[in-house]
Amino acid sequence: MDKVFELIKKEEKRQKETLMMIPSENYASKAVREAVGSVLMNKYAEGYPGRRYYQGNKIIDEIETLAAERAKKLFGVPYANVQPYSGSPANSEVLFALCEPGDTIMGLELASGGHLTHGHPKVTFSGKYFRSVQFGLDEKGPLDYEKIFKLAKLEKPKLMLIGTTSYPLAFDWKKFAEIADSVGTWLVADVSHVIGLIIAGVYPSPFNYAHIVTSTTHKTLRGPRGAVILATNKGIKKDPELPSKIDKAIIPGMQGGPHNNTTAAIAVALEEAGNPSFKTYGKQIVRNAKALAKELMKGGLTLVGGGTECHLMVVDLRPLELSGNVIADALEVAGIVANRNSVPGDLMPPFYPSGLRLGTPAITTRGMKEKEMKRIAEWILKVIDYVKPYKLPSKPEARNQFLKAFRAKIEKDKFLLGIAEEVKDLCRNFPVP
Ligand SMILES: *Cc1c(COP(=O)(O)O)cnc(C)c1O
Repeated sequence: MDKVFELIKKEEKRQKETLMMIPSENYASKAVREAVGSVLMNKYAEGYPGRRYYQGNKIIDEIETLAAERAKKLFGVPYANVQPYSGSPANSEVLFALCEPGDTIMGLELASGGHLTHGHPKVTFSGKYFRSVQFGLDEKGPLDYEKIFKLAKLEKPKLMLIGTTSYPLAFDWKKFAEIADSVGTWLVADVSHVIGLIIAGVYPSPFNYAHIVTSTTHKTLRGPRGAVILATNKGIKKDPELPSKIDKAIIPGMQGGPHNNTTAAIAVALEEAGNPSFKTYGKQIVRNAKALAKELMKGGLTLVGGGTECHLMVVDLRPLELSGNVIADALEVAGIVANRNSVPGDLMPPFYPSGLRLGTPAITTRGMKEKEMKRIAEWILKVIDYVKPYKLPSKPEARNQFLKAFRAKIEKDKFLLGIAEEVKDLCRNFPVP
């Protein structure tokens, strides 16, 4: 067997035997994976249905139309584009559709849960090609909309790109819309993380408030790696040219041929998300997150925002003087795969942040419920307690070496591997799709 397939087998085993708790990850269905691996990937289809640059696209046209129609129906919007290669390209395309280089854009800062593409300064295209103004989260609390309003009035952004990868509380889209309307700016909601929860009705929907909604399709939507750009009536009313501006920003603006296999898989995922069982799934994600958060707080951990209203939570490790790197590495040995994350007001750089991000979408797909969350919380608390003595050196140049030595030390640690065995036992009862 080609080594690649041996490695895929190994990865399949890893996904089966460990707890996938990175909130942006999920298990796609077999149908979704079949569409991704289909012959559709052999075809070039630059352009849009009915206006392609290549012959032989009658069937691809039907597939792309089906995907876009399903998206429009599911979200109740007049415009959907299913071609963006992924979430980051989708956001770039919206920015270039509506702004000129140098225009002011506004978004939530990275440390507070914003995405790189929301105007993160210096190192990203969104921070380099546009004049980016960012707002943050106060140490503990919910977003301060009054402060955001003042900033918007002062800076008059052309576009607000609002979304988050780690903010544990619900957004007030109505307030964002009021701010955007009062300064006459575009409001773009990036719901990549929470789209599945919005479908299930357990997270506030931006569809009545934002002009444009972008989302990845591989997170809580459980589809292939890809993205959609949706425009609401509000946006199309404000600018009837909006659909063609977005179409053109994608191709010829930023992309060539669409990934038709992905498009088909998006169509499959949208159909699955339209089933009543998907609503049950979305509700259980939040129930599980709340149950897990409660247990972790009972165990003495501090959570950003004091808990969760969605599918994820961020443990603030600063009160324990612990590093996100140390905890995430130790949890991985114990079979719990999460990721380190910045916390609001973090003085540490993003590579060595002071938080741990945990999410429930993937383990909920496996059928786990509140009872299992209790066990998982116990394991997490045990691991954190166990590695408490390991403090990241304050000297930046010593950190990498320290972590390398730490990983080598815990790799064969009996206590952590013992938990990994218990995790494996639990996983056996919850098959992956
Ligand atoms: C995941 C995510 C993205 C980027 O998606 P990629 O597919 O990784 O490029 C953008 N915005 C938000 C809010 C996200 O969560």
